[in-house]
Amino acid sequence: MQQFKQLTDRIWYQTPVSETDRPIVAVITGDERNLVIDAGNSSRHAALFVDEMEQQGLGKPDLVALTHWHWDHVFGMKQMAVPTIATNRTVDEMRKMIDYDWSDEALAERIQQGIEIPFCADAIKLEFGATRDIELVLPTIRFTGELEIDLGGVTCLLRQVENDHSPGSALVFVPQDRVLFLGDAMYADIFSAKWNYTVEQTTRLLDVIAEYDADYYVWSHGEAMPKDTFEQEVHVLRHIIEVTKQAEGHVSEMRRLYRELVGRDLTTDEEETLVFFANGAKK
Ligand SMILES: [Zn+2]
Repeated sequence: MQQFKQLTDRIWYQTPVSETDRPIVAVITGDERNLVIDAGNSSRHAALFVDEMEQQGLGKPDLVALTHWHWDHVFGMKQMAVPTIATNRTVDEMRKMIDYDWSDEALAERIQQGIEIPFCADAIKLEFGATRDIELVLPTIRFTGELEIDLGGVTCLLRQVENDHSPGSALVFVPQDRVLFLGDAMYADIFSAKWNYTVEQTTRLLDVIAEYDADYYVWSHGEAMPKDTFEQEVHVLRHIIEVTKQAEGHVSEMRRLYRELVGRDLTTDEEETLVFFANGAKK
């Protein structure tokens, strides 16, 4: 069951669902207008979010900012029915999808061609069942680099950031409430045969994130993570980046160096991340 939670004075969010790959959808409530972050993975998802907003007395969405082009963040756009903001790079990717057929056959064919992945196809089938009433619309407001949005009493900063998961992703920072929305930027590249992180992209991403001082870091398929927990995650990534460079991507040597560095065995999460970096080193 999805929950609708208040994070700070101005920010509310709906929790994600892993089976159907519903990401977090959030709203920043201004005195003049509301900015919703991501449109949800379906009309049903978007409608549920808008209902929750109304039930909490927050009014309606006025604008939607997309973190990136992946289906689970954009398929609710039509239902949101308000102007949508995205990076030009995100719009370019969405243009490729606009005429796609979402039937089982079409999904299977795109998996064959290496354009789609089973992970997304399975979640689409679960979210939509047999009725694939998917109508993709393109964003209204497009930008490259940075964009500032005044909602009245609160400002949101959108920042384009390179990363392995989805080129052209946008982070959303709300300085007043000290919250940074990461979208999926911290996740690996899942569209390659082997899921991976690269040293270059992750280093650049972490450097950009370090420019923002937040109390909460929101991972779209996870949670609103408090600063100290997020810093631990960053610490692990920086360590793994270091051993990836030292071992030039040789996985057993990376493991050995990492064990030496932290003075214990790797956790399951660390092992997974380490293997993703080894995969990335072979790209
Ligand atoms: Zn994604």
